[in-house]
Amino acid sequence: MNRANAVDAGAHQTVALAGTADGLEQLRTLVDAALDAVAASSIKHGGPVTVGGPSAAIAAVRDMMHGEGFLTDAPGPDRVTELFETYAAWSADLTHPSAVSRMQCAPTPAAAAAELLAAVLNQSLHSWESGPFALELERRLISEMAGWVGYGETASGTLTPGGSISNLVGLLLSRDHMLTDAVGSDISQSGLAGSAVRPRILCSAAAHFSIARAAGFLGLGRDAVVKVPTDEMGRMIPEEACRLLDGFTADEVPIALVATAGTTDHGSFDPLPELAALAAERRIWFHVDAAYGIGALFSNSLAPLLDGLSEADSIAFDLHKFGWTPASSSILLVRDEARLSPLAQQAVYLNPPDDEAEGYTALLGTSMQTTRRSDALKIAASLLSLGRKGMGDWVDACHSQARYAAARIDRHPDLELLAEPVLSTVIFRCRTSEAIEDESAWNAAVRRRLMTEGRALLARTKVRRQDGETWVHLKLVFLNPATTKEEIDALLDDVVTAAAEVKEAMRTQVRHS
Ligand SMILES: *Cc1c(COP(=O)(O)O)cnc(C)c1O
Repeated sequence: MNRANAVDAGAHQTVALAGTADGLEQLRTLVDAALDAVAASSIKHGGPVTVGGPSAAIAAVRDMMHGEGFLTDAPGPDRVTELFETYAAWSADLTHPSAVSRMQCAPTPAAAAAELLAAVLNQSLHSWESGPFALELERRLISEMAGWVGYGETASGTLTPGGSISNLVGLLLSRDHMLTDAVGSDISQSGLAGSAVRPRILCSAAAHFSIARAAGFLGLGRDAVVKVPTDEMGRMIPEEACRLLDGFTADEVPIALVATAGTTDHGSFDPLPELAALAAERRIWFHVDAAYGIGALFSNSLAPLLDGLSEADSIAFDLHKFGWTPASSSILLVRDEARLSPLAQQAVYLNPPDDEAEGYTALLGTSMQTTRRSDALKIAASLLSLGRKGMGDWVDACHSQARYAAARIDRHPDLELLAEPVLSTVIFRCRTSEAIEDESAWNAAVRRRLMTEGRALLARTKVRRQDGETWVHLKLVFLNPATTKEEIDALLDDVVTAAAEVKEAMRTQVRHS
């Protein structure tokens, strides 16, 4: 169909559905355009992000829209190509060695290609005929992963749209299981209104905020979360958890003890064996948030950090951090399949019992979702392309990078290391012997300057120091196995240079005010 014809006939008639012969031709052209856009973008900006900061990004979207809406009167492949080019040019380049701000990896080619295949075929997991192979693939993957963490035959789980949701699902199961016992009725049916119990979730002060959000979503309230004190590395202190449990009043029902395996800042691991024993003794659901720390599992030298993991009732982990698959690749495992029962759902039009009796079963009843995409495909593709040794080598590479960066920082007169890295994060700050008004504001401004100038993407956090004061610190998150020592040196040089520039600018400002 030529263009003139297309305009006459209505442009939409030139668009074929992706899986058809015509559609695949169109798809090949568009994929080429998309990949060209990615290749061109990294050459163009040189750094991990395009120069200019938020105002330039806003302008880029505005320019691309040409004063129109997305429901344009002049649709076509050229507009799509322009969208791809702008998107690629303005995306953070996760393959760049100075992109070290987030737990966000660049994916393997296998995983990226699998995403395309998943999109073209658009299978779903909610009924048998919506994805016959996708279903079996996810089942097989879940069962293998259960083996990774030391679970037995009775284990099960589900893929979810992220670690936050995996935590939510784990806590949902713990709530319904623990409170149904405490209240004496099925609380997923009756709800909690009118019940006299006050549910409590224990996690460390360094736990991810998704735990408190989940408590809010689950109708327990964020106040239901009891924060257990940690040591200086952000590890939960089991004796403190004991003490808090002993102090509960009769109506306070602990429904979950949440351990973090790989905290967001230090990458620290709560003492899993001790906490598992405590949870077992007090008959509390033991949930482990290993969203980031699961990486240790693939490394021979780091794997002991996860000792005790198999004692958990439920485990959440992400492969879109360590794992090199695109988001979302998150998993919630349970030691006992029966614990998934609060998610059970029968729908006459999806999974009628006589179909199920004949083996036409699906995964509607193990998920919070109905239509659900196949995340297992990209995970399987990535694992099959890397294998156990590949995954382990890459985790070890990122760990070595963190240790190398930490050693460099520790030796540098203008930088101060907070602690030895546990996994692949490094926390530090810029320091100076000169009097400076606000060292936290200075460090925060250094990070913004590096972002706006497109030189480096760093994370920041706040650290309570021994003197009780909180200080802004900078954080490097290494997830790119290809990064070299020279590139880490260059990154740290950039930080030191930017720190001097910002200090000078702050001093000039003070003089002028
Ligand atoms: C990243 C992370 C989460 C949240 O996971 P998402 O996939 O971003 O939703 C939860 N807990 C920990 C410890 C994390 O590192």
